[in-house]
Amino acid sequence: MLIGSKVQHNAAALRTALLGKKMVRFEAPLMDSLLPQVGRTIEEVRNLNKSIEIIWDNGIVLNTRMKMMSSWDVYRDGDTWRKDAARADVLIEVQDWVAVCFNTPEIDVYHDFDPRRHPILGKLGPDLSHVDADIEEAVDRMMEYEERDETVAEVLLDQRVVRGVSNVFRCEILWACEMHPWANIGTLKRAECRELLTLAHEMLQNADTSLDHLAIYGRQGKSCARCGVVAKVNHHGEANRVLYWCAGCQTSHEPLVRPNFTPLYIERDVSMGDSHPAAKQFMSEIISLRDVG
Ligand SMILES: [Zn+2]
Repeated sequence: MLIGSKVQHNAAALRTALLGKKMVRFEAPLMDSLLPQVGRTIEEVRNLNKSIEIIWDNGIVLNTRMKMMSSWDVYRDGDTWRKDAARADVLIEVQDWVAVCFNTPEIDVYHDFDPRRHPILGKLGPDLSHVDADIEEAVDRMMEYEERDETVAEVLLDQRVVRGVSNVFRCEILWACEMHPWANIGTLKRAECRELLTLAHEMLQNADTSLDHLAIYGRQGKSCARCGVVAKVNHHGEANRVLYWCAGCQTSHEPLVRPNFTPLYIERDVSMGDSHPAAKQFMSEIISLRDVG
């Protein structure tokens, strides 16, 4: 198998096992610096030309370079491993699955580059994960946002406005407020900003990111619990993070012009069965691999 298609196959299997799941164990014997944290949700798996990137909801990226002898194997609980566990370079465990990388020549972990998440200039906004966070200050910062046509989805991740809102919760907050993710920040009234941030503050106090407790995050291809329309997922914004939302009921402040975004190809119709988003994506990739030959 050519290296490119092997990487594609491995990435598709990783998506099936890991996407939208909370990590319960991480091991990488050769690494000692920045590590992905247990309890964080795996948000995306990207296959590049000769490497695979796994991205967590706090923007941590694990890049493993792939050679002919390298592989990411995926096992269900109780499966017999095809390789010696002692030789594993990276192990990621989630509920029901474990993914293991063997023979990678290079592992790298870094923060997805997003200048808004690492502001060099300017004071940071209040941290909403703190019980006594100053909500009114965050409201002020939102109301005074310089780029009036920036989307609310982006502003919620801007640490100069507010801190502590992970990608999972920005999706949940916007859904709960029935707000269109591309709403221009300049169109929001003070009361609406306060509603968003108060809700964010409440959610972050009882943060439970298991998929059963989430209303929209990780639910692409499934019906929205409020309106029944099939939920969408798009890449959006400077950091190109995934954004889950419902076009059926998140209509508040819907902009006339949509900003640039990249639709994920998993939105393509897949005629075959399984409705689980990861399975759907997996199938669509199998189909595209088959098409290539
Ligand atoms: Zn809906």
